[in-house]
Amino acid sequence: MFLYAYVYNRFMLLVANWKMNFTVTEAVRNFKKFSKLESKNTEVIIAAPQVSLATLGELAKTTENCPLKIAAQNFDFHPNGARTGETGIAQIIDLAPYALVGHSERRMYYHEHDKDCAQKVAAALSVKIRPILCVGETALERERGHAELVVRTQVAAGLAGVPSNRLGEVIIAYEPSWALSTATNAKLCDPREAKRMLGIVRDEIKALFGAVGARKVAVLYGGSVDSDNVTSYARTSEAEGFLVGGASLNVYSFRDILDKMELLK
Ligand code: PEP
Repeated sequence: MFLYAYVYNRFMLLVANWKMNFTVTEAVRNFKKFSKLESKNTEVIIAAPQVSLATLGELAKTTENCPLKIAAQNFDFHPNGARTGETGIAQIIDLAPYALVGHSERRMYYHEHDKDCAQKVAAALSVKIRPILCVGETALERERGHAELVVRTQVAAGLAGVPSNRLGEVIIAYEPSWALSTATNAKLCDPREAKRMLGIVRDEIKALFGAVGARKVAVLYGGSVDSDNVTSYARTSEAEGFLVGGASLNVYSFRDILDKMELLK
């Protein structure tokens, strides 16, 4: 009953990860459609492709009653300087109030390690950008029985540079990479298993910062979430929101997820 109240009376987060999709023109067109979405109990965040970050960041600020906030998908932890081709954290301060850190695709394709994630989380906080730290095991790690250890290690490493008085600004998304819609042989994570793993995330935060600290961090779930399964994930997994890839590319499929979340109240 307590958990029911805990989940159902909370303001939730819904993050659309547009990944490496859309030209700037397409992103603007989509943003305009998404900005008509109605949400009362859900904070809607668009993780914009880097090429569109400045344009969408400005649009989010100048569009009247815009319900959307912008997140960067990636950044360099250095504020600025001699890093050709990169985007420094200080360059996005006035564009994106949120930033993804350590998405599994960055860990997999760009070899981002826990140490990089720790630096990025700390760098984001230093300029008052809320980091969304992504954690989750691969299929092989799960097969080998290492899922819990991997996730605990990623959480502990990612939070290593976070002072306890800034913990409430951090968001953690548990996303098992084998459950992403784009994974080879993608499988849905059973909502009960998602609940267990989100419990591991919370338990690790508790071990590091105590029970009060653990309650400050919003913990999201991501992995093939769509309008058919979002209610079940919300009810069973006790996630405080969702990170959505594939189903966020189209305003209608995204709206259906948002509408279901709004009904959870
Ligand atoms: C993601 O890549 O963050 C994600 C959750 O993707 P999908 O919803 O497509 O599984």
